[in-house]
Amino acid sequence: MTSLTRLDCGKLHGDLGMFEEGSEGLVTLPVNAWLIHHPRGTVLFDAGMPSSFTGETDRTKKISEFLRIDFGKENTLGAQLIANEQEPEHVDFVVVSHIHFDHMGGLSEIANATVVVQRNEWEANTTGDQDPDTLHPRKDFDLGHKLMLIDGEHDLFGDRTIVCIPTPGHTIGHQSLEVRLPTCAKVVLASDCCCFARTMDTAILQNFAFDFDEQRRSLAYLRKCRDDGAIIVPGHDIEVVGQLPKVLK
Ligand SMILES: [Zn+2]
Repeated sequence: MTSLTRLDCGKLHGDLGMFEEGSEGLVTLPVNAWLIHHPRGTVLFDAGMPSSFTGETDRTKKISEFLRIDFGKENTLGAQLIANEQEPEHVDFVVVSHIHFDHMGGLSEIANATVVVQRNEWEANTTGDQDPDTLHPRKDFDLGHKLMLIDGEHDLFGDRTIVCIPTPGHTIGHQSLEVRLPTCAKVVLASDCCCFARTMDTAILQNFAFDFDEQRRSLAYLRKCRDDGAIIVPGHDIEVVGQLPKVLK
């Protein structure tokens, strides 16, 4: 039977205006990864933050200029997997929504997993020289994992239970994940296509994106899924996350 478990990979705190242009005040953003048990394999959606963020480094100092990192040793991907009775070395696949530090940072902790990512997202981040000051360095994600580079929609096990859906805009090859569970509605893990639940209606986006218009077109897909009865899980909405059961079946 397929199940979906939320992993608590820490929090980020910062100005709301960064994640919802024009808004004021502070916001707490939960960082999550999602563990899916399927009869044919164990799958993660996203990988949280790098374990090095539990201490202070040059990189965390740079990030701390605009986001406060709230990330204990218990929040690393490896610790969260073990706390949920999953051996990290036995994760078969990790679907990466996009190559940002709060979504792919823990890949080094699941060395045996096949990384499933949109080809254009991978190529945009591995072609040419990276800016030495990037917040999303190649050493976090280009680690020699088996790679499954996909082009558009991809049904992971061929039974429609776990389906990658391209939702580009926030980044060039951003993707979301549809999960069909036996006893509840279709769940769509939206990641940063949709920061908060309200984003689907306001279409007020983060103040940074690869293509804002494309992101709004991707939001329309999420809105349609919601209106058809799906549960949409936004990327960083603490209220939605707080209301979800820890495990969905
Ligand atoms: Zn994010």
